[in-house]
Amino acid sequence: MPQMRLFRGHILNPIAEDRYTLHVDGGIVVDGSGTMLEVGEYHEVKQQYPSATVVDYSDRLILPGFIDTHIHLPQYGMIALHGKELLEWLKTYIFPAERAFTPEVADTLCPLFFRSLLSHGVTTAAIYCSVQKDSTHVAFEWAEKTGIRAIIGKVMMDQNAPDVLLENTSESLQASEDVCRTWHGAANGRLLYAFTPRFAPTCSRALMRAVSDLAGQYGAYIQTHLAEHPAELQWVRELFPETQSYTDVYFRAGLLGPKTMLAHAIYVSSDERRLLTETGTCVSHCPTSNLFLKSGLMPLRELMDIGLRIGLGSDVGGGPTLSPFEIMRSAIYVHTARRFLPDFRGGDISPATALYMATLGGAKALGLDDTIGSLDRGKEADFIIVNPQRLSPFSTATGTELSSETLLSRMIFQGDDRIVERTYVRGDLCYDRRSCGKNEREI
Ligand SMILES: [Zn+2]
Repeated sequence: MPQMRLFRGHILNPIAEDRYTLHVDGGIVVDGSGTMLEVGEYHEVKQQYPSATVVDYSDRLILPGFIDTHIHLPQYGMIALHGKELLEWLKTYIFPAERAFTPEVADTLCPLFFRSLLSHGVTTAAIYCSVQKDSTHVAFEWAEKTGIRAIIGKVMMDQNAPDVLLENTSESLQASEDVCRTWHGAANGRLLYAFTPRFAPTCSRALMRAVSDLAGQYGAYIQTHLAEHPAELQWVRELFPETQSYTDVYFRAGLLGPKTMLAHAIYVSSDERRLLTETGTCVSHCPTSNLFLKSGLMPLRELMDIGLRIGLGSDVGGGPTLSPFEIMRSAIYVHTARRFLPDFRGGDISPATALYMATLGGAKALGLDDTIGSLDRGKEADFIIVNPQRLSPFSTATGTELSSETLLSRMIFQGDDRIVERTYVRGDLCYDRRSCGKNEREI
């Protein structure tokens, strides 16, 4: 039985959309299976668990790991190529990259990709692969090895895709079901499957309806894109003339529901918003991607205020960075830009709200908030160790003397992967900056 450990540090913990707690000298007790047994003041916790081995991060911040609710693994090699808008960008860069995502290429790319996510403090990611079934297996194998928590899906496209990526409907369903059967719930629930019809234009009605049945049968997720770019909306109107809206395409196919994650949702009418709330569907907000591909400004505050569960997504390679810090500050900047629009309504997005969305809010969106998203007794020990020294303008200061408001604001507006020193998933050390980036697991 591995030893019980007591992690000591400044614990910053989101508890609600605009609220968090700080234990200046806090302690987290983690048992051998990676579950948190207690979180509180260090001296109290120490008294309760005197035999636990102390892991001392006294001059460091401990935060819940970040959750990236939308990212494309095969596009990692095509990151940050600026200039084109969604449909042209897909054609020029992305479909060729996804075609090239053979199992051999996946075997090279996956360790870099997962290590990079962990080095940015991402402990959970919802990931699109390509249409290739065997490459999706490779992605799961590397997720298992690197220790990250992941929801992964094989992309499905049975219409309007380049010939080399176009699938036969029943083969696409069969291949997805095979991967789901192998991996959904693997690694004791750390790995989960998401049926992944790319977006309405590349998916037939029959495919989408069958995905709804399969996902229900296996209790798996569904992930797809919604209303990202005006040209895409026009295309959907032409392809599905019988529907009321883009959201209605998915509604009629039975794709909406609490385990469905829709990326972007920039252009959604009030009727569509009602469909999303009534079905409990969740949304991934991808502000860096929405700016990078010139897609638009999502009405984040308005969608939050109607009760939608919303997490943050990097949408790499549509987004130019994996960094949750950059995505959090971009969410705030986009909201600020929207304040200048004539139809703007609603309040603010604070640094506390951005942190919530990147952690507990993301967990709620994925329906995993009983397991991850914050540092609480009974949840799994997914957390990161952050060095606050870089957040102080004075090189001699440790950073820990700063107020929690200052730390949070500086972390979001100045932070990057250099402040993330260690990343733990389920109590396992999955990334350690000291080891020069080697992907070593402590246990
Ligand atoms: Zn995407």
